[in-house]
Amino acid sequence: MVTPLDVLAIAAHPDDIEQTCGGTVLKMAEMGYRAGALDLTAGDMGTRGTPEQRLAEAEEAARILRIDWRNNLRFPDARLENTIGARMTLAQTIREVKPRVVILPYWEGRHPDHYRTAELGYEACFLAGLKKLDEYTEPHRPFKILYSSVYANVTPSFVVDITSQFDRRMEALLAYRSQYESSSQGAELFPPQQEIRERLGAVARFYGNLIGVRYGEPFVVKETMRVDDVVSLGVRSF
Ligand SMILES: [Zn+2]
Repeated sequence: MVTPLDVLAIAAHPDDIEQTCGGTVLKMAEMGYRAGALDLTAGDMGTRGTPEQRLAEAEEAARILRIDWRNNLRFPDARLENTIGARMTLAQTIREVKPRVVILPYWEGRHPDHYRTAELGYEACFLAGLKKLDEYTEPHRPFKILYSSVYANVTPSFVVDITSQFDRRMEALLAYRSQYESSSQGAELFPPQQEIRERLGAVARFYGNLIGVRYGEPFVVKETMRVDDVVSLGVRSF
């Protein structure tokens, strides 16, 4: 039995979480919440390194981000499909770890694995709440689904200040040494570390700027956000 998670980030590939919502996951862990990461594929189609290397690197990244629980479902990379089998496996995992909040990739994007993960994740969260899904696990439907929108050109519903977590998130990303260490193999596809730092820094800076902080991570939610105290709202108007 796994102790229930407060927040679970679900992503298509190892290192997606580190690129998109790792600062938020780390921030929640620092606040005392139990954080989890679930990668659907091991990146078997990747140009560099082996799936086994990536799984080991994902463990190291999880340690850096203070993630309590991480798993990889080993679904087929680059041809991820929203099948009943995939949905059931994911729903059962959700029932086992019982997250209150689930973070998914945004539902539109360039990479099919990413938007399929959004759809698969949403449907699995629904299935996980059905009493009669199976006899072995208890029903559990996450209370909230957040969509990490960093690579979608949409206005976020909110941005999390990750100024204090940014360096550690970068460290976690660079723990994927098979992907990001400079080497001649695939050099034109994989920019050196300085380039990655600048690119991710610029993106995080852009979203941070929307809420008046240095670095931020954007999210979209489908429901309206509730506010109780309009006097303490945080982002200054002009
Ligand atoms: Zn990815």
